[in-house]
Amino acid sequence: MLKEAVDILGYSNEVFEFLKEPMRFLEVNIPVKMDNGQTKVFTGYRAQHNDANGPTKGGIRFHPDVTADEVKALAGWMSLKCGITGLPYGGAKGGIVCDPRNMSMNELERLSRGYVRAVSQLVGPTKDIPAPDMYTNSQIMAWMLDEYDHIREFDSPGFITGKPLVLGGSEGRETATSKGVLYTLQMVSELQNMPLEGMKVIVQGFGNVGGYLAYYLHEIGVKVVGIADALGAIYDADGLNIPDLLGRRDSFGIVTAQFENVITNEQLLEQECDVLIPAAIGGVITTENADKLKCKFVVEAANGPTTKEAIQMLNERGVLVVPDILANSGGVIVSYFEWCQNNQGYYWTKETVEERLKEKIHASFTNIQNTAEQFGINMKTAAYVEGIRKIAEASGLRGWINL
Ligand code: GLU
Repeated sequence: MLKEAVDILGYSNEVFEFLKEPMRFLEVNIPVKMDNGQTKVFTGYRAQHNDANGPTKGGIRFHPDVTADEVKALAGWMSLKCGITGLPYGGAKGGIVCDPRNMSMNELERLSRGYVRAVSQLVGPTKDIPAPDMYTNSQIMAWMLDEYDHIREFDSPGFITGKPLVLGGSEGRETATSKGVLYTLQMVSELQNMPLEGMKVIVQGFGNVGGYLAYYLHEIGVKVVGIADALGAIYDADGLNIPDLLGRRDSFGIVTAQFENVITNEQLLEQECDVLIPAAIGGVITTENADKLKCKFVVEAANGPTTKEAIQMLNERGVLVVPDILANSGGVIVSYFEWCQNNQGYYWTKETVEERLKEKIHASFTNIQNTAEQFGINMKTAAYVEGIRKIAEASGLRGWINL
């Protein structure tokens, strides 16, 4: 996809060579005293893809399957996300190989603090600003902020975003990614002349993104016919009672364990609906199942849920795929707002945050849509073109590469 976008833009191969890998990558070993007194060593990563447009920005995920390659790829996608939404950042991403579901709060706190100590040379409010990602939350951001403040010996709320409100977090940050997906879906419905009310939607994922999204959709009269968590999925063509399901989730977003008529995540993706929203993990729509999907649109709320070949297959069948780097950019957009508020020491209302988020999503959607039409390409490729244009131009002007 990167190569394709570079070629469409008519850039030299230098651009591809430079952007295909992160500019910086750090691997760390973090010793953590576990509750049983023994020390366990965890592997952590931080990748900074490109800082031509400003400090780098991106979340930190805690997951047993985290790999160096995944973190590097995600950092690149963050660069594109910041590029298409016009944020003054490049992309970054961090990760720790761990299973937070099997760790106590005290162990998680020690791990979070250990990670910050390990990467502290590389990060900072004007260098690289972390945020939550898969299985990390505002409490983890609070511990990380506290550790950083101790190391630097001054209060630096702009070091990390996704913080709790009392520690300088922003109104609307926790729900930002799902609100961004919602605004994207509203754009799709306007574009296709298909009212949202009564539309049938499947949301795969019931955590921070999928859970709030299902709730907002339900609230505005969309029929959420299917949801899934990490253990399974439930589908009802007449619509699910989302508020009830949300109330029954455990702290990791698991609810399907309480039901008998559970289907698999794979089966859920193939059920009848108007819009399919993968909002959990990457690589779930592939050449294996792309032909079996019965939806009219796919809105990618997770990072990389659809493979390049699968997008091609879906497009050939007239299924529009709204790309992840646009659809799920709400999180980093409001992270940017949080950072601005921290730098100003002046805090905005939730209404202001959401209004400005909507503006940014609308502008980026329209821009990508126009680029897609101009070059006769799909929205995913158009998003890459717009993202790469921003990073390449800044890198070129700095004298790093020849376009
Ligand atoms: N982890 C989120 C993402 O993948 C948010 C990143 C941020 O807020 O910096 O976009």
